[in-house]
Amino acid sequence: MQISSNHNFENKVIVITGAGGVLCGFLAKELAKTKAKIALLDINFEQANTFAQQIVEQGGVAKAYQTNVLELDSIRASNEQIKQDFGSCDILINGAGGNSPKATTDNEFHQFDLPENTKTFFDLETSGVEFVFNLNYLGTLLPTQVFAKEMLGKQGACIINISSMNAFTPLTKIPAYSGAKAAISNFTQWLAVHFSKVGIRCNAIAPGFLVSNQNRALLFNQDGTPTARANKILTNTPMARFGEAEELVGGILFLMDDRYSSFVNGVVLPIDGGFSAYSGV
Ligand code: NAD
Repeated sequence: MQISSNHNFENKVIVITGAGGVLCGFLAKELAKTKAKIALLDINFEQANTFAQQIVEQGGVAKAYQTNVLELDSIRASNEQIKQDFGSCDILINGAGGNSPKATTDNEFHQFDLPENTKTFFDLETSGVEFVFNLNYLGTLLPTQVFAKEMLGKQGACIINISSMNAFTPLTKIPAYSGAKAAISNFTQWLAVHFSKVGIRCNAIAPGFLVSNQNRALLFNQDGTPTARANKILTNTPMARFGEAEELVGGILFLMDDRYSSFVNGVVLPIDGGFSAYSGV
């Protein structure tokens, strides 16, 4: 992907949580091409550091910081280090998130006479549901508490959260992840209003179904044909294909760049090939 030379974030500090992950690691590498200084935060330092090193090797400015987005002390420590290394945060991308098998049912629909070992809604573990809500919701709120304080009154300050298709209409099997991402969309609107007088815009993207190395095996058979689940997704995506990670970048750049989106505040931008617009009929 060619990052448009229209986007120049030289001297801006972009903090990305979950930057050791598939999507945000990719995003970090793309955003580094805008000349911004990229702070890659992740509980998995090794992975974030690998991406940071790749950015530096390609002439960009980046550093990894081991950070647990669920612990204020850890986030604060990274904030202090980032301020020493690069200066204070201008743009925060809250990318850390995820689901848990302990909060996932085996079946799409409850049925009478299910096999005994089926994990139904009634078997979901409280700890799994808590994990998912904490990671997605608190894991967005706590970094925002720390980094938004640095952003108050700064020109071009903005926050971007990562919501999901689940936030509009829940997907089957994953009630906790769906609820937590709905909470992220709601929180995005709340933040947009709350910080509207102090110069911080807050928006979110809601990615549709993307192919990544993590889910490729679930979506495609060995001969390259789509699996049953992949077919269901494609049938419900009017553009009839999966998205690519690089197709998120344009939406994020638009929301970040206040020369293009200075009056855009509190939106959740679907990047989904029309999935959220389609009733299936
Ligand atoms: P990923 O699992 O590859 O990355 C998530 C990262 O978060 C990992 O590197 C992990 O180490 C990190 N993390 C987990 N717990 C943490 C903690 N307590 N503190 C700090 N870091 C922690 O996931 P991804 O697919 O790249 O997704 C990134 C974001 O996009 C998530 O919020 C996800 O919910 C959202 N999302 C993904 C998709 C998709 O298709 N992959 C679709 C919609 C939304």
